[in-house]
Amino acid sequence: MVKTPIYMDNHATTPLDPRVLEAMMPYLTEHFGNAASRSHPFGWAAEEASEQARERVAALIGGSGKEIVWTSGATESINLALKGITEFYKDRGNHVITAKTEHKAVLDTCKRLERSGCEVTFLDVDKHGRLDPEAVRAAITDRTVLVSVMAANNEIGTIHPIREIGAITREKGVFFHVDAAQAAGKVALDVNECNIDLASLSAHKMYGPKGVGALWVRRRPRVRLTGLIDGGGHERGMRSGTINVPGVVGFGMAAEIAQREMVEESARVRALRDRLQQQIVGGLDMVYLNGHPEHRLDGNLNLSFAFVEGEGMMMALKDVAVSSGSACTSASLEPSHVLRACGVEEDLAHTSIRFGLGRFNTEEEVDHVAKLVVEKVKRLRDMSPLYEMAKDGIDLKSIEWSAH
Ligand SMILES: *Cc1c(COP(=O)(O)O)cnc(C)c1O
Repeated sequence: MVKTPIYMDNHATTPLDPRVLEAMMPYLTEHFGNAASRSHPFGWAAEEASEQARERVAALIGGSGKEIVWTSGATESINLALKGITEFYKDRGNHVITAKTEHKAVLDTCKRLERSGCEVTFLDVDKHGRLDPEAVRAAITDRTVLVSVMAANNEIGTIHPIREIGAITREKGVFFHVDAAQAAGKVALDVNECNIDLASLSAHKMYGPKGVGALWVRRRPRVRLTGLIDGGGHERGMRSGTINVPGVVGFGMAAEIAQREMVEESARVRALRDRLQQQIVGGLDMVYLNGHPEHRLDGNLNLSFAFVEGEGMMMALKDVAVSSGSACTSASLEPSHVLRACGVEEDLAHTSIRFGLGRFNTEEEVDHVAKLVVEKVKRLRDMSPLYEMAKDGIDLKSIEWSAH
């Protein structure tokens, strides 16, 4: 028997790797010093650990440790990048370009920028959720200061053509920020090859602790920004406040493990994902894949199950931790903004389930979940007259429903 509940929501957060916890422990106890204390060994030990962690996190994306600014997570990093760049370079222009499928941390920050006088272009994506680099080029004006694009999408896993976009922003002399919260540690991403100027990272998306993140800020050519948090001038004035030493040590270890094991792990996670997909799609009709069939995260499987209510589905899968694109599980009434931007019809958006596989999932869990999904979807559809009609080849859209 597999142990339940089964965790398949690794895009929301990941469990702490035991090796990461082990690395953190001494910094919660005997090495408790403040990394800013320059006058004694307690401070030196903390400082040294933080510096090693900078190197490890930066190395994951091909950068240097000197370019890392510690933050509380990707949300803060994104805020710092977008607000900090537009503020510092406000004499150059006030135009920002991003995509409609970005994480709320980017979209809500952009809406805030609009209220404070910036102009923001929210680009459309194709039906697989992918941005066309030429659309970015076409949107750049002489007032554009920043382009912000996520490397990989947290709902549908789609991986954007970051290298192609970076070539364009570099050519045009526009800063390029990449939200790499989902991609870092999962797919190879090199800030120099891709001409990235700023990258936002989060420890808890890669088996590190929650509440720790980093903004990587390019030094050559130098990228400058206005800090959001004042008080002591830590992080070269970009982010004041005492460093969360155990947190950044954990982040460093998580990055080191991710880099060392990425090739092997991504093959393993991809095989699990493919197995899950094959078993579900093989056992059911009218199941649709959301996101890009190839350019997507290895651990991502986002499926829409026609004629199954998202809420009913989530209840039927109560022993499996997954996410739904349906409104029923969130505070808003709208279905996922990502699926809508991909042109997924509202009905299908409401029936979408995101399976997020990760480092600690097993084949046994995959087989159990696939069997459960097939069984539950069949049972829910047995109660749906619409499904019967669709199966009989009746085009439901052509029917004029009577109000009586
Ligand atoms: C999780 C996530 C964030 C926010 O990261 P936090 O560290 O939780 O603040 C931003 N962008 C993407 C793509 C994410 O998946």
